[in-house]
Amino acid sequence: MSQYDFDLFVIGGGSGGVRCARIAAGHGARVAVAEERFWGGTCVNVGCVPKKIMVHAAEYGQWAEEAAAFGWETVRGPHDWAKLAAARDAEVARLNGIYERLLGNAGVTRFDARATFIDPHTLEVGGRRVTAERIVIAVGGKPMRPEIPGAELGLLSDDLFSLKALPRRVIVAGGGYIALEFASLLRGLGAEVDLVYRQPLPLRGFDEDLREAMAEALINQGIRLHPGQEMAALERAEGGIRLTTRQGLSLVADQVKLAVGRLPNTSGLGLEKAGIETGRSGCIPVTADQATTQPHIFAIGDVTDQLNLTPVATAIGHALADTLFGKTPRRASIQNVPTAVFTSPPAAMVGLTEEAAARLGPAEIYIARFTPMRHTISRQPRRTLMKLVVAERTRRVLGAHMLGEDAAEIMQGIAVAIVAGATKEDFDRTVGIHPTAAEEFVTMRTMTRRVGG
Ligand code: NDP
Repeated sequence: MSQYDFDLFVIGGGSGGVRCARIAAGHGARVAVAEERFWGGTCVNVGCVPKKIMVHAAEYGQWAEEAAAFGWETVRGPHDWAKLAAARDAEVARLNGIYERLLGNAGVTRFDARATFIDPHTLEVGGRRVTAERIVIAVGGKPMRPEIPGAELGLLSDDLFSLKALPRRVIVAGGGYIALEFASLLRGLGAEVDLVYRQPLPLRGFDEDLREAMAEALINQGIRLHPGQEMAALERAEGGIRLTTRQGLSLVADQVKLAVGRLPNTSGLGLEKAGIETGRSGCIPVTADQATTQPHIFAIGDVTDQLNLTPVATAIGHALADTLFGKTPRRASIQNVPTAVFTSPPAAMVGLTEEAAARLGPAEIYIARFTPMRHTISRQPRRTLMKLVVAERTRRVLGAHMLGEDAAEIMQGIAVAIVAGATKEDFDRTVGIHPTAAEEFVTMRTMTRRVGG
């Protein structure tokens, strides 16, 4: 019998931690997991899931508006925020329950409490001391407030899910995933939205064509864009909150939603007592095997600040449990991870951008821009962009990018092809499904340009 209370203790009951705990228990390990706030973590409670439900709600409004062009005599009525919030919260509660049951069924001991380190093998959990041979830190991240006067007046993403009504006018600050998704869904639900960000285009790091198409799509949705703006202060003003920028912009709205990035959730964990070193902004650097500076303590998910996406955390948590307890050592790959931004319409990508591919060698670029069939009828200005980045020498498709209806759904399948190493010729000999937008990915025959090399 081990000298420890548990073979594995997981700190954090989010997607990554729960998967790791469950799989380790399935391999026969004695596992415990502690969660201080809500089972399922950010994604289930104040992230992907409630956000996507609100995106659906916004899209229904759009569909109702378009329906008349297809012959339906419908009138888009007012939106009932409270009804949406109730449906959203009920679904989140259902998923919470599933997460708890999954752990129970797997034989994992649950602690509804905060866990902090006492020493490298001992944790204090809800007033109790427990020991573990191995520990996984999966505490995730939290939204960051910018260091400007009045920053406390802004809403963070968590706050958005407890609002009692749709703000009539909203300023969204930031140009990343969260800023764009919230700007788009709030606009879709009827708010007036100003988006303030410091780059010339939103989504720094994404493909340039996609960034341009995104800016155009946001404008077409009726969002007012304010690029190249650095926030200076927030203050109370008549009629709401005023945001001013160093460039001289001054806007007033009922609410300001701050979406300027997230920070690892490591403060107060007692990492120093366990001898774990932290990196930039408090993240926990890890080896390729997810080990921290203590070889028996591991970290997974957003706390490692690598690729902060739920499916990446679950894939890595699963591989870690298999490695430690399943006699099948393996690492989850974070190459070619597909990702989507759930704006209206959404954007999605997998693999390299044109700019990254060009740095590696000569690449062929294929681009299609078109109005999808739905919008040739609806007459909505919702255009689609599709783009393939192909290595000239190996013929492999290195990257795919899309902005348009169903981009996320389409990109998942394209990602399988790219992960499998498909060439442009493999795409070309694949028969399309007609009539779809997705078929465009297998019918792009004319090169738009050659770059790199
Ligand atoms: P991102 O890192 O995506 O974007 C942060 C944004 O804030 C950038 O536009 C950045 O600008 C800006 N910013 C940072 N600091 C400041 C500052 N001091 N003043 C003004 N602007 C600033 O973070 P998010 O918070 O949007 O999302 C966090 C992570 O969560 C994402 O990176 C993603 O991994 C994940 N996520 C994934 C989603 C999905 O898969 N659909 C949805 C939501 C989140 P700049 O570019 O100039 O640095």
